Formats: sequence, structure tokens, C-alpha cells
Amino acid sequence: MTTLTVTSPVTGSRIGDVPAHTAADTSDAFARARTAQPAWAATPVAQRKKIMLRMHDLILERQSEILDVIQDETGKNRASAFDEILDIAVTARHYAHAAARLLKPRRVRGAVPVLTRTHVERAPKGVVGIISPWNYPLSLALSDALPALLAGNAVVLKPDEKTPFTALRAVELLREAGLPRDVMQVVTGEGAVTGQAVAQECDYLMFTGSTPVGRKLGAVAGERLIGYSAELGGKNPLIVAPDADIPRAVRGAINACFSNSGQLCISIERIFVHADVADDFLTGFIAATDAMRVGGGRDWTVDMGSLISEEHKFRVASFVDDAVSRGATILTGGRELDELGPAFYAPTILTDVPSDAELFAEETFGPVVTVQVVDSLDEAVARANESDYGLNASVWGAGPTARKIASRLQTGTVNINDGFAAAWGSLDAPMGGWKQSGVGRRHGEVGLLKYTEERTVAAQRGLSLRGPADMPREQYAQVMSKALRYGRVLLR
Ligand code: NAD
Repeated sequence: MTTLTVTSPVTGSRIGDVPAHTAADTSDAFARARTAQPAWAATPVAQRKKIMLRMHDLILERQSEILDVIQDETGKNRASAFDEILDIAVTARHYAHAAARLLKPRRVRGAVPVLTRTHVERAPKGVVGIISPWNYPLSLALSDALPALLAGNAVVLKPDEKTPFTALRAVELLREAGLPRDVMQVVTGEGAVTGQAVAQECDYLMFTGSTPVGRKLGAVAGERLIGYSAELGGKNPLIVAPDADIPRAVRGAINACFSNSGQLCISIERIFVHADVADDFLTGFIAATDAMRVGGGRDWTVDMGSLISEEHKFRVASFVDDAVSRGATILTGGRELDELGPAFYAPTILTDVPSDAELFAEETFGPVVTVQVVDSLDEAVARANESDYGLNASVWGAGPTARKIASRLQTGTVNINDGFAAAWGSLDAPMGGWKQSGVGRRHGEVGLLKYTEERTVAAQRGLSLRGPADMPREQYAQVMSKALRYGRVLLR
């Protein structure tokens, strides 16, 4: 079998090899999953819940070892890696407790009051395919898998080729927590081969990654008529209103722009600051950016780690260079940090980026943010919405001002006085993108229910809907017309 080599972005050295699974290998994994799934679906929800809560405990207990694996593969700083531990623990707990309520059969109003008793049942889809990216290799491998499993599905996961070891370790932990072996499997390999094979075999496809690949997978899902949700790219705005608490907004912006070296679908890449507070905000933001500690290693005090690869660093650098060549100004950063390793790039603030620069509208997916001063909040909202993407937004200001702005933004999540964590961490609420940022949602009720099929069961008692067998059709029409007229008044 051919293999893929995983290398450390910090040192460039080899971490290990994983199999490059073929389409036939992927079919075998699905066959095993299909064999295991019915027994798992028949396992009481209370038992599945216990396994998820054990997973919650294991992920916290083993965090140090998992943090090492995440950091080795991604080069991210330890604090950003810990965000993934936190996310998975909270997701496991949330859906463990929510599953029984969400999956319970639901009584609904029947066709005819009293005579028709109708309820809606939920059944698992079967085998869910998950294709995940490298930027949050633990979170994005498991946060969709856990609700899919709780709903009684088996899962086949295809992690990114740069970060397979985190996914493999995570699934070992799930097995240790009690998940039957074949109920969740990992197939490592290239997107175009293994990822496509997953899309061709699964009963529901969950994808997190870039918009171009999301579109390709949507075509496969459309052709196969299977359910699909996709969490894609963003070009997320942050608005600073005149009544914002500026020191707090500065700290929030640092976190929102540079967490995980900006390689976060919901991180902020565009800031619109009101002219009344622009000087204060910019002075603080530039100083705080310059004070960030960038580096590799396990030290918890490092603020920002490396990018995922040297190749990605070159892409980020080329976006910045292109903007500067078209007239943008660098306020700080704007350079590679080769003294730290092959894939480090300085946290960067740009201003006056012209609209023909690539990074004006395209996702950089790095530690680069543009700041633009605006004369009014109306202008801020208009410019924030001027994007093909619509994933996340952040608003800094006093409550009423911020809420009014939030309700005008065309994004799936809006965080008030926070960058992204408040909405992402609100697991009871749906999360996802408008426009080119995705289809469907994760989190919330839909984050589990999308992995189920609904079955409506209606039991008719006594009289059939067609009326008494011997009633002439015309008389039936008259009786029913009268009943409908009363029903309009009585039934609401
Ligand atoms: P990518 O789309 O290139 O890769 C993501 C996954 O898709 C990987 O597992 C890859 O192997 C697989 N893949 C690639 N080509 C494929 C194909 N033709 N068929 C099937 N699978 C294929 O994304 P990336 O560049 O690695 O990740 C960064 C992107 O992901 C950014 O755009 C970012 O915004 C987005 N992202 C979105 C979210 C979100 O929740 N909205 C979260 C994280 C990342």
C-alpha cells in the first residue's frame, strides 16, 4: 500500500507515515461500518450517552498527550490546541445530554382531530461520511461525528492528509470509551481519491473545508441525492462602534484575528472602525500585535505558532505583497519569520487595501487583517456585508448599538463583544454560513437531527378520511366543506 508522509511544519522533519487508502479500501471500511451500524442503532440511547460522557472524561484526562499530537502536526501554539480539547469535551457533554430528548418520537396534530393519531419517529441515516480539514484536526474530526454517532449512525472519517494522527488518536479514545470498533473508522488518504470515495459511499456527507472543494462535493451529493452540509470559508468582519470599550475591543481583536495563526474559518480578516475611536483603537491594536510572542514548542505563554506549511506561508505572503504592490499600507508585520522555522509569518495589520487586491475579498486564512476607518455605522454594515462569504461577524459596542448592528449582518453567527468563541461555544444554537460560506448547519438541534431520517406514522381510528363507505361523493364534499369552514375558526 502506498503511504503519505506527515511532516512537522515547525521543524520540517518527518512525524510518520499513514496509508493512502484507495477507493476499494474505503469501500471495505463502509462495508464494515454497514455491518456494525444496526447493532449500534439498537443500543439504547442511554448507553450511547454513557460512552460519550466517558469520552468527555478521557479527552480531559489525556489532554497533554493529545495536545502534543495536535501541535506536532499543525505547529499551532498550545493554547490554540487546548481550544480543541475544550470544544470536544463540551460537544460530547452537550449532545450526550440532548440526544434522548431530540430522538424521542414526537406527537403532532393528526389529519382529523381525535380520529388520527400521528407521531414522528427518527431513524439514523446509516453511515455518515465526514471529510475534515487540517486547521482544527481534533475539533473538526469529532464535533460532527459525536452527534452523528449519538443518533445511531456509523461514521467513516477522512481527515486532512496533513493531520491524520490527531484523528487516529481521537478514534482510539472513542473506542476506549466503549464505542464498538467498526462504528467509527478513519480512512487516511488524498482528498481527490479517498475523500471522493467517502462522498460516493456515504448516506450523508458532512464537509468542512474550502469553498471550491465544498462545491465539488455538493455536486456529488446532488447527483447521489444524499443529505449534505458544508462549513466553508469566510472573510469575516469586525465592527468597532463609537461606544465600544476600546481596551476590551483591542484584546478581543487580537484573539479574533490571530488565534491559531488566523487559520480559522470564523476568524476576523476585516475590521471596520468608526472614525471617532479609530486612533485609540489602532494605537492599542498595533501595540498589542507587536507585543505578541510568536514561536514553536509546548510553552503555554506563546501567543501564536506557525502556519500549517511553508507552502501556505508563501500563499499568505503573496496575498500581502500583492496588496502592498497595489497601494495598501502595512501598519505592522508583513514579513516571514524564517528565524523561527519554515512556516512562521508575523501577525500583520494592513490598511487602505484597494478592491482589486486579492486579499480584499478572498480569504487569506493566515494572521493578516485589514483595518478600514468608516464615518458611520451604516457604512460599516454595508462594507461588512459586501462579501460573497457570510460565516461569522463580531461587533464591539454598547448593548443596544451592537444588537442593532448584529441584526443587519448577513452572517450565520454574530458575536457581540467577542470575536468568535461566544457563538461557536453556544452549542444549543445553529452555526454555519450564509452565501458561499456553506450549506446546512452544525450545532443546535439540527447538528444532530440532520443525521436522521424522519418517519411520520399516522394511525386512523374509526371513520376513514374518505367518510362512511356508503356516503355518496357529493354529500361527502358538502360535509367536508362545512367541516373545513368550522375548522378554520376552531382549529388554529
Ligand atoms: P480543503 O477543502 O482543501 O480540504 C479539506 C478536506 O477536503 C481535506 O480532508 C482534503 O483532503 C479534502 N479534499 C480536498 N479535495 C477534495 C476532493 N476533490 N474531494 C474530496 N475531498 C477533498 O480545505 P483546506 O484548504 O485544507 O482548509 C482550509 C479551508 O477550510 C478554509 O477555506 C477554511 O475557511 C475552511 N474551514 C471552514 C470551517 C468552517 O467551519 N466553516 C472550519 C475550518 C476550515
